[in-house]
Amino acid sequence: MKTLPLGEWERKYIPDTIERFDERNIYFNRKKWDPTLKDDLNWPAHMLTGAVTKTVGNSAWEHALKFGGFQTEQLSILDTTKPNPPLISLEIAKLMEEFNYYTSAQKWRPPEPLDVSDPQEVTNRVKKAATHFGADLVGVCKLDRRWINSHTFGLMVHAMELEAKSQHVPDDFQYAIVMAFDEDYNMVKHFHTQIVEAGVAMGYARMSIANLFLAAFIQCLGFKAIDCTVNQVALSVPMAMQAGLGDIGRHGLLIAPKYGSRIRLTQVLTDLPLVPDSPIDFGVSEFCKVCKKCAKMCPSQSISYGERSTEVPSISNNPGALKWAINMDTCSEYWIKIHRGCGVCMAVCPYNKVNSWPHRTVQWFVDHAPWLDPLFVWGDDLLGYGKVRDSKNFWKEWKPQPYGHNT
Ligand code: SF4
Ligand code: SF4
Repeated sequence: MKTLPLGEWERKYIPDTIERFDERNIYFNRKKWDPTLKDDLNWPAHMLTGAVTKTVGNSAWEHALKFGGFQTEQLSILDTTKPNPPLISLEIAKLMEEFNYYTSAQKWRPPEPLDVSDPQEVTNRVKKAATHFGADLVGVCKLDRRWINSHTFGLMVHAMELEAKSQHVPDDFQYAIVMAFDEDYNMVKHFHTQIVEAGVAMGYARMSIANLFLAAFIQCLGFKAIDCTVNQVALSVPMAMQAGLGDIGRHGLLIAPKYGSRIRLTQVLTDLPLVPDSPIDFGVSEFCKVCKKCAKMCPSQSISYGERSTEVPSISNNPGALKWAINMDTCSEYWIKIHRGCGVCMAVCPYNKVNSWPHRTVQWFVDHAPWLDPLFVWGDDLLGYGKVRDSKNFWKEWKPQPYGHNT
């Protein structure tokens, strides 16, 4: 694995001008305003409520496991740090103030300005705090404003009229702390069931908590922080790449050396002086050229078999970066059709392995001897990796692991 100077990373991935992404264009937001999209599938009720069936992995037990985890997603309602906080969050904050509901811990600030003259030491402490709050990976990048969404769009959880507002992050926010949260290796293999969604829910749950905690930690130091939970403020993948957490794969997801792509990403933006990490290269682009497993297995055929391109198939993708852009329209329609997220591309990716020495050895060769890549793709198929796991005995066999342990 080598680090890439930012200039080299830019030449590899960003040959074209980047327009800031507009949150209105997220596919599920377009459902609310774009007349070209079919609305007969009744998003979001259709997908959020799911369908309890007699098929294995889709019973009330797995639905409850999923919705149990999704509860903390609502924690983001307590966050008023975003540039365009939703009305409901402002109202809650006002009520909490009125009823003297804020604790001294929430309002605490240092008695005098903190000495932050050693940014490396500050960075070390912030990374330790992020890990303490639950992040499995932490990196820092300079805030690249091309990844900040140009507009925010009122979401369905906010009981108010939907609207788009232009979004501005003040100039003193110079850094992003990017965090990744591991998902249960054994759960993602049960694709086509609600078990996968239960794993995803915990990624969001842990992300919401850690983001809220880390933003509060920075505010308690006397600095500014924007909590970007649930991706409303910025694009996560390019920021995670710049912060050295991993590289983008053919399936459009970040691949981290230790966890593959079964991670959720989020950021806290801050004016605290930090030392940025460097992007990394560990052979992903070369391996994806020959692998194509995600493209072959994608049930909606939304993943490109071709070369990386700066062009994109839908307004729900952001053009300009050199990548394999998935077709967000067909992918999202498939999610709605099956009443849940899909995740097959994440589950079948050969980078998605346990952290054992044979897998680390293969990864070393993928990184250092790319001419062997076809052999490893063949071996991955031969050993049956990427096959859907039988969910019949899920509850008997499932041994939940502490997160971050990658087993
Ligand atoms: S989530 Fe499913 S449908 Fe969407 S790109 Fe991945 S494999 Fe295809
Ligand atoms: S499945 Fe293969 S082609 Fe797809 S992202 Fe993973 S390594 Fe790349």
